[in-house]
Amino acid sequence: MTDTAPPSDADAATADVIVVGAGPAGSSAAYHLARHGADVLLLEKSEFPREKVCGDGLTPRAVRGLIGMGIDIDAEGWQRNKGVRFVTEGTTVEVDWPESARFPGFGLTRSRHDFDELLARQAVRAGARLWTSAKVTEPVPDRTGRIRAVTALVGPEKRAVTCEAPLIIAADGVSARLAVSLGIGRLPRRPMATALRRYYRSPSRHDDPYLDIWADLRERPGGPVLPGYGWIFPMGDGRVNVGMGLVGTDDQRSRDTRRLLDTWLERTPEEWGLRGDAHAEGPLRGAALPMGHNRLPHYTRGVLLVGDAGGMVSPWNGEGIPYAMESGELAAETAVYALARPAGPWRERILQRYPREIQRRDGRFYRLGTGWTAVLSRPALASFVSRRVLTSPAAMRVLTRVLANLMDERGDPLDRALTTLIRAVPRPRDHVSGGGRSPRGGRGARR
Ligand SMILES: Cc1cc2nc3c(=O)[nH]c(=O)nc-3n(C[C@H](O)[C@H](O)[C@H](O)COP(=O)(O)OP(=O)(O)OC[C@H]3O[C@@H](n4cnc5c(N)ncnc54)[C@H](O)[C@@H]3O)c2cc1C
Repeated sequence: MTDTAPPSDADAATADVIVVGAGPAGSSAAYHLARHGADVLLLEKSEFPREKVCGDGLTPRAVRGLIGMGIDIDAEGWQRNKGVRFVTEGTTVEVDWPESARFPGFGLTRSRHDFDELLARQAVRAGARLWTSAKVTEPVPDRTGRIRAVTALVGPEKRAVTCEAPLIIAADGVSARLAVSLGIGRLPRRPMATALRRYYRSPSRHDDPYLDIWADLRERPGGPVLPGYGWIFPMGDGRVNVGMGLVGTDDQRSRDTRRLLDTWLERTPEEWGLRGDAHAEGPLRGAALPMGHNRLPHYTRGVLLVGDAGGMVSPWNGEGIPYAMESGELAAETAVYALARPAGPWRERILQRYPREIQRRDGRFYRLGTGWTAVLSRPALASFVSRRVLTSPAAMRVLTRVLANLMDERGDPLDRALTTLIRAVPRPRDHVSGGGRSPRGGRGARR
């Protein structure tokens, strides 16, 4: 059954799995659940189409996720790119995306204005029920503290509906309301970034074949290099998505980012149309990026965290869409196997595999990436990286694979060497710890 609103008089609903939030993580989870025959109810607080502050950049890793959801990426509206152009210290280095059996050799851009809706509609096509204007307000625990339902305010009249399911997937983004209400807080030592973006009309840049990254951001000429980068992503519709992100401690991120953005854009050629407001379209918007698995555990008491709700943005480059889709798919797969067992210890054991598998896949990579953000946060090291690494074509061919996580363990010798190197990093051990309080105040049951 597919619909976009609950029956007008219903105050309760049931499903096999309830997914909270229809961003890339939630829609991917709902799509893969529905494809496996599960009855899935996807609850989204807004109405589509809607804005989402983003750079709209999709690396080959994200393209792979879209292909896995059956999205028609040859249709109108998708803009292809063939790699990244690093502009640093007056030097330009162009690196094409590597071609491998695992990832396509191209990236895409697509405005989140309709990207998220496309993914949600694909989930509906696969059989998921989607309720828009359905804002989840809180989890409902049973006597043991396990979450058996969520309450939602639905429709313009904000009717209270209780949605019940043996499993809940929290895909509600960086605010992570559901996780917070379960007592799962943010890990303060993991990196966060703040980023701003704006669209500009730029006929000369809108269909550029490369994603531009400017990595030598400074508050003043000759000053220390800041931990972050500026981007100019071609949208193919006359516009570019222009933005800037800074990573680090709250202190490092609390700079006047708007002024920094203006300072950087003053360096771009006049004819690109990025200086001042004359060619800008819409307001400058900003948001936070939760990185490096900064919210743990990723499973507790019948609730699986996916995407930004689980702090899954890569600390290497700030991309979150592929990890949102991948965690959504993994959560869906785990849920299907868990639901095939009766409620009890075996089902619980299957569910505990989800956080372990997330850590197995990305734990070491993110740990190393957290170290990378620490390097960039030290002015002397950031300056070295900016002058010596980002300006070297050979170094950037290697680093691009790492930044975008495009290594194929069965790929060429470079891929295999990088994979081995990452495997040598000790895996973080905190993936199942840090469980939150029960919504009633006590410790939650973790059967
Ligand atoms: C400025 C900026 C630039 C970025 N650029 C890129 C980029 O170029 N490429 C990239 O890969 N990543 C980028 N990211 C990161 C990326 O946007 C996120 O990682 C990604 O959107 C995460 O997807 P998600 O589904 O987990 O969360 P979201 O996309 O945030 O989706 C969460 C959904 O849950 C809904 N929701 C929230 N609360 C509730 C509730 N209570 N009830 C019901 N629904 C609810 C929201 O409305 C939303 O639809 C950028 C982020 C920022 C801030």
